Amino acid sequence: MGITKKSGYEIKLMREAGRVVALVHAEMKKIIKPGVTTQYLNDTAYQIIKDNKCDPTFLGYNGFPATICASVNEQVVHGFPSDRVLKDGDIISVDVGATYRGYVGDSAWTYAVGEISDECKKLMEITEKALFAGLANLKDGNNLDDVSGAIEDTALANNYGIVRQYGGHGVGSKMHEEPFVYNYRVNNNLILKRGMTIAIEPMLNLGGDDVEVLEDEWTVITKDRRPSAHFEHTALVTDTGADILTKLPD
Ligand code: MG
Ligand code: MG
Repeated sequence: MGITKKSGYEIKLMREAGRVVALVHAEMKKIIKPGVTTQYLNDTAYQIIKDNKCDPTFLGYNGFPATICASVNEQVVHGFPSDRVLKDGDIISVDVGATYRGYVGDSAWTYAVGEISDECKKLMEITEKALFAGLANLKDGNNLDDVSGAIEDTALANNYGIVRQYGGHGVGSKMHEEPFVYNYRVNNNLILKRGMTIAIEPMLNLGGDDVEVLEDEWTVITKDRRPSAHFEHTALVTDTGADILTKLPD
């Protein structure tokens, strides 16, 4: 299919999907605390998505069994919600997608549960900073490697591991469209064009780069079992940088 540029109408639908994803995250921020289960987070997200005339994009995607990915501490991404109870000092990455009239919004955020360590606080701050460094480069005429490089530089300046096997992607009527967006330079020669819609999603580790997949065939964890953070927005390429779609209207 190649990389598509979206029409104004398609972008309108994606902005609505993105708004609903942002609503879910606003609620996650409020309810994540010691004592809640990741299943409760999942069920809350499902209800918000349905109440806003969207469908949960992840549910059933390649067989994924839930509305959110709930990835705690050393879990990087694709964790299953469960009866696991969050405890003080955990960090949890919630990744969620909503589909509105066939168009997708996709966004992930890492949250502190109660009081967390300074090193986890910094990991979260820098991973969010890496996301916004990438987004600042998401503009017409830039090379896609400018986005990847900005993320890589932010991570390496802080000696964090960069998850190599997963990354950002085009988004539209499918959750995963071309191009794949590496979180490090790969000598990409793709030039960004106004109208492309892309999810940027750095996953950074307190330890090394390496990850492995658990026997459930979904949950990705760091090989050294050190914590990992994940921040993601879906955005529109413009002449001046990213127009973030997965946020609440100002
Ligand atoms: Mg996502
Ligand atoms: Mg994504």
